[in-house]
Amino acid sequence: MKILPFVRPILSAAFLLTVCVPHPGKQAIAQQTPATRPPPAPITVEQVKGNIYQVKGGSGANTGFFVGEKEIIVIDAKMSDESAGQMLKEIAKVSPLPVRKVVLTHSDGDHVNGLTGFPAGADIISHENTRVHVSAAFRTETQRKFLPNVTFTDRLYISRGSDSTMGRVQLLYFGPAHTDGDVVVYFPDEKIAFAGDLIFLSRDPLIHRAKNGTSFGLVKVLKAILDLDVEMILSGHNEKATKEDIQKFVAGVEEKQAKITAMVKSGKSLDDVRAAFSIDTQPARPGSSRWPSLVEVIYLELTQKK
Ligand SMILES: [Zn+2]
Repeated sequence: MKILPFVRPILSAAFLLTVCVPHPGKQAIAQQTPATRPPPAPITVEQVKGNIYQVKGGSGANTGFFVGEKEIIVIDAKMSDESAGQMLKEIAKVSPLPVRKVVLTHSDGDHVNGLTGFPAGADIISHENTRVHVSAAFRTETQRKFLPNVTFTDRLYISRGSDSTMGRVQLLYFGPAHTDGDVVVYFPDEKIAFAGDLIFLSRDPLIHRAKNGTSFGLVKVLKAILDLDVEMILSGHNEKATKEDIQKFVAGVEEKQAKITAMVKSGKSLDDVRAAFSIDTQPARPGSSRWPSLVEVIYLELTQKK
């Protein structure tokens, strides 16, 4: 366990944006411009269990918050100042306590770009690799005031209050998966975990190779979540999941990995693998938002040295 001191260097340069959104269908990829996007849904707050809440709507991924004895811990920051501000207004309707901590599940823009809409002075907590990615993306002077100031490598526990019978909020790191800085926020008392973008139930998982994500690591991390005493898993882009949902998700990824591993061993090319999985062989246009598919990511992991 490690807590770093405040480190808030100030630089200024261009602003980079990485966003993690559900994989668009092939047709939907065709250049949807911001002007044609529907406005975000209103922010809604749902009490999940006890003092744990989930926030949906606004721009960016689902978020959550925990009302502690003296302070509120928010999990992920939405994607814009405006949405962050709306979320904070809704949180204030639930509790008058101050938001003193923001935990980042990882570094994608739809989870962190709203940080600048938070009050100054809250601790921003992340895995140390997430701080590296956020630091690369947050280039304006204002943004750099909101870089994570508390980072860790393996785990970090946050006290829930003075009652010693209460457990702690556990921030757990199980290795590279969606990115190399994915944190699981685990509430052992309630048997609830927030898993950021480690889970995508209705589509293939997204692996950010540029952020050292790996599909084989994702399987390992999801199995570590299954080893937790947890009944409900919340995430950035899905409905609430059970362990059974995650088991099915893992099985689907492992099936693809096994099939592609066998194809690589028998000397098949990336095009062979794409064809076997009916993956669009059109190369992504420069500047296109097309993600490499899971199938391609697995193939590259098996055949390329990073
Ligand atoms: Zn993400």
